[in-house]
Amino acid sequence: MHDRLQNFLNTELEYGNKASPVIKLSSPILDFKQVELWIKRDDLIHSVISGNKWRKLKYVLNHALNNRVDTIISMGGTYSNHLHALAFAGKQLELKTSAFIRGEKPAIFTPTLRDISDFGMELNFISRSEYRELRQYKQNDQLPGILQGEYWLPEGGATEFALQGVAEIVSELHSQLLFDSICVPCGTATTLAGLVSAEVSCSHIYGFSALKNAAFLNQDVNNFFVEGYQLPDNWSIEPDYHFGGFAKQNDQLLLFMEEFEQTYGIELDKVYTGKMMYGVFDLIQRDFFKKGERVVVIHTGGLQGNRTKNSDFIG
Ligand SMILES: *Cc1c(COP(=O)(O)O)cnc(C)c1O
Repeated sequence: MHDRLQNFLNTELEYGNKASPVIKLSSPILDFKQVELWIKRDDLIHSVISGNKWRKLKYVLNHALNNRVDTIISMGGTYSNHLHALAFAGKQLELKTSAFIRGEKPAIFTPTLRDISDFGMELNFISRSEYRELRQYKQNDQLPGILQGEYWLPEGGATEFALQGVAEIVSELHSQLLFDSICVPCGTATTLAGLVSAEVSCSHIYGFSALKNAAFLNQDVNNFFVEGYQLPDNWSIEPDYHFGGFAKQNDQLLLFMEEFEQTYGIELDKVYTGKMMYGVFDLIQRDFFKKGERVVVIHTGGLQGNRTKNSDFIG
């Protein structure tokens, strides 16, 4: 681990060197259904660089620091949790950051844009079609025109390094308790792929898609693994808890999140964890999980996104 990153882990992160807590939720419905529901509080890792965004960035940052990368370039929407985390990490670790942002430069910046620009990230606003084209560059040196010292980080931080960081969730869980099922929200499904890559022996991994028409995510998960790799089949993606599409919301979702927060004292985000948790409780209601099953949901963070009501954004 590079000195600067180790120092950041030691001094800045609440759970940089030790496992984030996993706690048991209790309520009458869980007792009644006899499902043990636990939550892994990755949202508590840090107030800015939290959840799966820290997990996915950790080894990319280490690689950058160890390999004379001076600028990390990435892409995201005007509410992106990924860019928010990257910009903050760059500032802390003295790495330059730059981003392609989807859509025209807004007259009034979202709280996310304001932050990332304050953190020193260079912002380049591009059209939606240009944005879509950037998605084809999946390797760190593939961005057209990339210079020496620059590192291209694809959408959602989807790299090998990300899988490595996410896999540490599973090793932490193993040191904490054995779970029958792990639940996680999916955007690009990089986090899900990381959990799958960690070889979870007895656990089944359920992804909950934040996007509509997410069947393609199954292939995307496969694409993370080299040909010939025996991808385990202990995972699946629930496609029906997107609430109308990415970042779309309705009263039913918001009410559920409010009740959840009142009951368990834990805030969820509107784009990912709120929808996943709604799905988990819906499945519990439908007796999807076996009696006595021990389920853990990963709180992937994303709470900075709750600062706005606008519904036009991308993770
Ligand atoms: C980005 C994000 C996700 C989606 O992660 P992927 O690895 O892209 O699937 C899930 N939850 C939160 C809170 C996020 O910010």
